[in-house]
Amino acid sequence: MKEPRALPQPGPLPVERGALFLWVRRGVPLALAVFAFAFAALHSAGRGWWLLAGTGALAAAWPSFLRGEAFLRNQATVMRQDCLWTNALRPLARRLGLEDAWILSFCGHNNQRVREALGGRRARRALILLPHCIQMARCKAGILDDLQACYDCGLCPVGDYMNAALLNRWEGRITNRSHKAYREAREFRPDLVVAVSCTDRLIKGLTKMPEIPCYVIPLSLPHGMCVDTDFSVPHVLAAMEALVEPKRPGDIQPLRREGIA
Ligand code: SF4
Repeated sequence: MKEPRALPQPGPLPVERGALFLWVRRGVPLALAVFAFAFAALHSAGRGWWLLAGTGALAAAWPSFLRGEAFLRNQATVMRQDCLWTNALRPLARRLGLEDAWILSFCGHNNQRVREALGGRRARRALILLPHCIQMARCKAGILDDLQACYDCGLCPVGDYMNAALLNRWEGRITNRSHKAYREAREFRPDLVVAVSCTDRLIKGLTKMPEIPCYVIPLSLPHGMCVDTDFSVPHVLAAMEALVEPKRPGDIQPLRREGIA
């Protein structure tokens, strides 16, 4: 009989880095507000318009201060505005050679807020979304239809993920089309999505599903886009442990297939 493989252990959740996004997202409207109010104080001509512009700039900065429950209550509005900023400044970031850094900074800022919001009141209905490209390209196992079709050969992260998902009874979907992932997420009505994808799909996902709190994990692309991609299963484990209500002992099932446990 095949020797059981050691299951990956959850690592600590990494420090999220969202300073670049936050400096721009909050700093630009606050600077505009200061400029508008200063202009209104120093010049009487058009003072009303400058005051109006300053107030509008403050209103634009306001969502960036929402945290915890306030963030969850205004989730869709906050995310729509943040995604607008991210997508609007993406061409400039690309020109500066900072496109990935810009998107990852937004993702880090988003993850920080989701962690703060769910730190006290964990999610009860979480869904994991994974892209099909994590499966080794030459593997014929039909994991799109049934995750347990994976032979757990250890050549790609799917085996470790399957073991963790079965052991903890996670709800997850592996899809080969983004629109299918969004549709399945909406149908499932989760209170948290843990999504693994490349930066381009992560920002698209956050833009398409602003109403759902999403903790996002970027893929590694050692062989380029969409081929034999990789991700950290311990990172997913850590996110699920930190953000999701643990299942009761009776809910957890032993691994069912011989050779897996
Ligand atoms: S772990 Fe092995 S069997 Fe499972 S999907 Fe990856 S390559 Fe295929």
